[in-house]
Amino acid sequence: MNIIILRLGHRPERDQRVTTHVGLTARAMGAGGMLLASNDKGVIHSLNEVVQRWGGNFFARSVDSWKQEVHNWKEVGGRVVHLTMYGQNLPDVMDDISKEENLMVVVGAQKVPPDIYQIADWNVAVGSQPHSEIAALAVFLDRVNAARGTEPLTKEFPGGKLKIVPHEQGKVVKEV
Ligand code: SAM
Repeated sequence: MNIIILRLGHRPERDQRVTTHVGLTARAMGAGGMLLASNDKGVIHSLNEVVQRWGGNFFARSVDSWKQEVHNWKEVGGRVVHLTMYGQNLPDVMDDISKEENLMVVVGAQKVPPDIYQIADWNVAVGSQPHSEIAALAVFLDRVNAARGTEPLTKEFPGGKLKIVPHEQGKVVKEV
């Protein structure tokens, strides 16, 4: 399954930390990349630096037109899930979504453009209460992977300079 994230509504003056964490969470939980619908070289640079250091094939890039990206994605058969607390609750649509091979997962910042509700194939709530795009994305990726019998927490990230050796106490990191 190939999953990419589309981050909408990022405001460089206040969302840098949260958007970086959206990207880090996406990478750690098995997504292939993140498209950022804003121009923020700092966030893109931080995420690509993490990939260089810790490995894997995750990409992060800014896009000029998120609608064009969605159009291109759908044209080659990809489907679009918009995470929103107003949508259908995840357990009710999980069977359909987890059958898909290529998913674009859209998360907002403060407010999303209203047309995303029509453009998305599914508007999906990770529980029908307000919380956070980072939490919503983590739970979504974990549940979709579980439904497909894959375990993102044991995924390998080849090609990095550093690798954590899990340890009972302290921090053990080896250079590879
Ligand atoms: N009031 C805002 C709105 O109108 O969308 C909510 C912004 S919320 C802090 C930022 C993002 O978190 C949303 O765009 C959505 O992607 C995600 N989010 C928050 N709660 C969610 C939930 N229960 N289910 C799915 N996504 C959620």
